[in-house]
Amino acid sequence: MPITRLIRWLTGFRRRKRDRIRSGPLPPEWRAILERRSGAWRRLNPADRAELVGHVLVFLNEKHFEGCGGLTITDEIRVTIAAEACVLLLHRDTEYFPLLRSILVYPREYIAPTAEHLDDGTVIEDHQPRQGESWDQGSLVLSWRDVLGGAANPHDGQNVVLHEFAHQIDEEFNLSEVDPRNALNDAARHWAMVFDRAFERFSTEVEQGRATPIDPYGATNEAEFFAVITETFFERPTDLRRYDPGLYEQWSLFFRQDPISWRG
Ligand SMILES: [Zn+2]
Repeated sequence: MPITRLIRWLTGFRRRKRDRIRSGPLPPEWRAILERRSGAWRRLNPADRAELVGHVLVFLNEKHFEGCGGLTITDEIRVTIAAEACVLLLHRDTEYFPLLRSILVYPREYIAPTAEHLDDGTVIEDHQPRQGESWDQGSLVLSWRDVLGGAANPHDGQNVVLHEFAHQIDEEFNLSEVDPRNALNDAARHWAMVFDRAFERFSTEVEQGRATPIDPYGATNEAEFFAVITETFFERPTDLRRYDPGLYEQWSLFFRQDPISWRG
């Protein structure tokens, strides 16, 4: 079989398999977990909930979970993480975080080694507590306690699942590295211009110690800005639109969602 036909056949096969899984029933105990644990689930309208259920089923069929630091993976952990992550996929044709294979879950904040490379060649090795990380080798790490905290309060702009999976989306679509001069079309150019302008303004405000509705961690670099704005967009949408209507509009266009209209 020629390679192009093989790829077309494989793509069609995967699409049919996903369609079948997406339309399958949600076990009642999983629905109970969504009701109990996912703040986002409680805010969605019935049509979005139905779409989210389909995405959760595909997500859980395709992604591998691994317990770390003595944690045993349960349906509660899998379903809660899947639900919060799949909010990012609603209303779009999606490949389900194609760069991601495994989700590693620690019971609580974990300590990760860090290395700072100084200009004179010295390397300072240290350790830092982390709630989550997204790696580009196909895995993502989360602290279960922080997942629960983030999912329980859908209005505080702090959600480690949204944050880490936003990094996956950024990596998939290269959203935080677009240069307006090299953008492929008007929409991408506009995205890049709004993004750059907002990042510059925000970085200055953080430097000057001024209060904004956005977590100052977003000033670290463009990738963190994308992840933090995504948290703010879904959890504090009214504040984000008031802070920068253009930025809110760009996030609405990309995610094809308007969280201001969500209930609660
Ligand atoms: Zn981050």
